[in-house]
Amino acid sequence: MIALIKKVAGYLVSAGDVVALTGAGVSVESGIPPFRGKGGVWERFDPMEYASIQAFEKDPAKVWRVLLSELKRVVDKAEPNSAHKGLAKLEKIGILKTVITQNVDGLHQKAGNTDVIEIHGNFAWHRCMKCDHRTDTQSIKLDQIPPKCHCGGIFRPECVFFGEMIPLEAMWRSRQAASNCDIMLVMGTSANVQPAAYMPIIAKKSGAKIIEINTEATPLTENISDHILLGKAGEIMNLLITEIENCRQAELIID
Ligand SMILES: [Zn+2]
Repeated sequence: MIALIKKVAGYLVSAGDVVALTGAGVSVESGIPPFRGKGGVWERFDPMEYASIQAFEKDPAKVWRVLLSELKRVVDKAEPNSAHKGLAKLEKIGILKTVITQNVDGLHQKAGNTDVIEIHGNFAWHRCMKCDHRTDTQSIKLDQIPPKCHCGGIFRPECVFFGEMIPLEAMWRSRQAASNCDIMLVMGTSANVQPAAYMPIIAKKSGAKIIEINTEATPLTENISDHILLGKAGEIMNLLITEIENCRQAELIID
């Protein structure tokens, strides 16, 4: 494992353009529950009843009371973990360019990444459905449900509900980032939900190396990934950052 960490760190230091694709596994260590899979939010709430745009338009108070208020409480107090901080550090030292994320918690931006493509929108911002006024989630008060804007319109999160289109700009930019990168880090995602699942394939076809950081093998592991670092995103990221710093120190000494 350490040999593989060293190898991947070496690739990252010498790459020109690195993109990360992140999913729920990256935010679990920040206390954000995954939506899909075992123990996920959709095991407790039927997404068609609580997370579809039809359900929200029909009864926004119900969706706010049951699902959105709980999500808001979790997102409002969540802090970036080692995985987010590591990616922010990779950007700061000029290795990482873009993060494509399926997460809606805004933690990559909070950690310091400046180019984050949010495929499913985000929960960190809300928008009035009547006048389009935007406000951050912390400013939304839950003393009236559904929360309302000063104009009387209802606030909705800027995330994509089931039944809504993925924002076109996010799609377009993700494809572009995937086809231009030298390395794609696939972190904390089983990569079986479209359209995110397609990004490593685009990257691979364009000649990039695919490095997976996941707790278990995924559909990508056998045919698409060049390497998989098995473990929790935060722990692996800490090992990688230490190794990258060693590489950079060594380069400075040689220079
Ligand atoms: Zn309004």
